[in-house]
Amino acid sequence: MEGKIYINGEWLGEQLPQLKVMNPATNECIGTIKQAGISETKNAIVAANEAFRTWSKKTPHERFPLLMEWHDLILQNKQSLAKTITEEMGKPIKESIGEIEYAASFISWFAEEAKRIYGRSIPSRARNKRIQVMKQPIGVVAAITPWNFPAAMLTRKMAPALASGCTIVVKPAEETPLTAIKLIELSKEAGISDGVINLVTGDAEAIGKELTTNSIVRKLTFTGSTEVGKLLMQQSAETMQNLSLELGGHAPAIVCEDAKIDEAVNAVIASKFRNAGQTCICVNRVYVQHTIYEEFITKLIQKVAKLKVGRGLDEQVQVGPLINKKAYEKVKLHIDDATRRGATVRVGGDGYVDKGYYFQPTVLIDVTDDMLIMKEETFGPVIPVTSFQSDEEAISRANHSCYGLAAYFFTESMARGLHIAEELEYGIIGWNDGAPSMAEAPFGGMKESGIGREGGTEGLETYLETKYISLGI
Ligand code: ADP
Repeated sequence: MEGKIYINGEWLGEQLPQLKVMNPATNECIGTIKQAGISETKNAIVAANEAFRTWSKKTPHERFPLLMEWHDLILQNKQSLAKTITEEMGKPIKESIGEIEYAASFISWFAEEAKRIYGRSIPSRARNKRIQVMKQPIGVVAAITPWNFPAAMLTRKMAPALASGCTIVVKPAEETPLTAIKLIELSKEAGISDGVINLVTGDAEAIGKELTTNSIVRKLTFTGSTEVGKLLMQQSAETMQNLSLELGGHAPAIVCEDAKIDEAVNAVIASKFRNAGQTCICVNRVYVQHTIYEEFITKLIQKVAKLKVGRGLDEQVQVGPLINKKAYEKVKLHIDDATRRGATVRVGGDGYVDKGYYFQPTVLIDVTDDMLIMKEETFGPVIPVTSFQSDEEAISRANHSCYGLAAYFFTESMARGLHIAEELEYGIIGWNDGAPSMAEAPFGGMKESGIGREGGTEGLETYLETKYISLGI
């Protein structure tokens, strides 16, 4: 596939240099994209601004059928889109199909929800005044997305932006632009007007700089590393852009002695090994109450040892390759650091290179809080497990992080669970649940995990400006 950039309804960039897109499972080139920079980004912003004049004036009821047509086309093309995801980032094909359904769910949910963007009428203290509050689309939006969910991270931003009347310039990750291009081709087929969606690929730094410093852009929505998030925040200070930042995480999971142990083991495995551990909300460290520690470890190891690693297009595979060599080396570094400081590998512990970079699902025990793996995002298929005595101890160790995205805990006690949920300093809490992401729920983090929420009514509100009209009568 030869990908181009998309501006004002046209596929452009014939003259631009090409970049290769690689399959991380086979190290083969599966397509090319164009290397755009500042001038193409400027053009995309101008096109989005022009389209905003008409798109923002449509009613949500007029935008609804267009968005639903896009949603339906995505589902009709589920198999081929899923194959593209697996080919460009490696996840098992079943997970890619799940991602397409999840990605489409943002479009239908926000297309509906935009019909319920209400203003307010406030009783005034002055008899001769009426107070009206109205909500309007914020303007041109810039979206920068990561490679780990090539479809869902895009639609989670594009759907609320478009449904609320904004237009958008998107820059997908250089590793996974082909899924983005295919999604946008379908948006054109659905009849979404020219200029409403624009796509630039290529030089991330140059494109990012233009998107953050161009005063036409009124909102930046970014999912990626905390490091790049901080940089974009600094750059956009100049233009005072509204920001949604969904950054790194380091999710703890607390397993209490009254938990259903088998269910907790399954949820931890589902959370940790999905996408080979390359998700920002995956379980990164497990705290198990000391009374059930041995039983939990035994059950966990039995199941983890059975997980099948390999190429994602093989239907039997549960854990695909890591995205690249750097990711592989980080996993190795975390395991080496942990074992050097006294941790024990109970299953897995090693990787192999077979054109792509693969890592065995790994369980580490005897871990301590000073190990790198207990402090930094691993982004790989490794679970470090330790024990705790009291809930207060578990909560305090879980909260001891600069991140605050997702946290999990397992207990059958309502009082105990509510206490833990209230004390955890995380934006997303999975209570007896290892898969909390839903289009209708607010997703996002506290502390250095970011700003704002995506999904739910919060995820729509963030694309709206509030206007107050004081009417003298
Ligand atoms: P990861 O380490 O998971 O690749 P990044 O934060 O580096 O996370 O990348 C997430 C997204 O941010 C990608 O689309 C990438 O191209 C983009 N990106 C990386 N560096 C910059 C930058 N300096 N300015 C703008 N975007 C950037």
